Amino acid sequence: PVRGLITILRPPGGRERICDVNALPLFDDTGALAEVVVTFIDVTVRESQRRDTDHLNGQLARMAITDDLTGLANRRGIVDIAEKALAAAERHGHELSFLLLDLDRFKQVNDKRGHAAGDALLVDIARSISLALRREDSVGRFGGEEFLAVLPASDLEAAGSVAERVRLAIESGGSASDVTASIGIAVRQPGESADRMIRRADAAMYRAKEDGRNLVRI
Ligand code: GH3
Ligand code: MG
Ligand code: MG
Repeated sequence: PVRGLITILRPPGGRERICDVNALPLFDDTGALAEVVVTFIDVTVRESQRRDTDHLNGQLARMAITDDLTGLANRRGIVDIAEKALAAAERHGHELSFLLLDLDRFKQVNDKRGHAAGDALLVDIARSISLALRREDSVGRFGGEEFLAVLPASDLEAAGSVAERVRLAIESGGSASDVTASIGIAVRQPGESADRMIRRADAAMYRAKEDGRNLVRI
């Protein structure tokens, strides 16, 4: 027997129909196959609604973890990536580092050039950061003008060189602006939570601010 086989029928010159096909073999007294009853149920409407719903659900799921302005992961998205990277690092005993980046005196950019220009600059900077990272790294918009980068398999030395590359990419940004960033690094310590690592990276970022901005601190 065949049950619930979803097939597309294309009648010549007609419209495509989605069918639920069922087939039932019938046997005579001797046990020989006598006939097969096949039914085609037109489920075009039901199936296309289900496909629309699946598509919409996929879109909603992506939207829930994406930042509208920059197209990067939003806070929820990057924290989820951070937690998964931490679990993987723990499982395999690998290194892992986070970078927390906050733009310097960004309020002044808005004050001088307007909020829309500030927004456009955030988009440029998001792209610069992404380009300065390695293929295996992830970055998300953690807050207004704060970004969190997750660097798998990275010890202090590796994270330091990535952070420096990101800092330089922003400093020499293509958008003819004088925006810079302060970056804090946290390298995973055994048993540490993602939340705690982020807080350490944040504390390091504040030290970079205190020390004069446009700096990387550990
Ligand atoms: P600091 O060097 O101490 O970081 O100075 P700052 O001016 O950057 O101060 P802070 O990080 O506390 O403030 C962030 C400012 O960034 C506040 C707001 O004007 C601006 N900002 C935050 N989110 C957005 C955004 O989505 N668009 C724009 N245009 N500006 C934003
Ligand atoms: Mg900030
Ligand atoms: Mg700032």
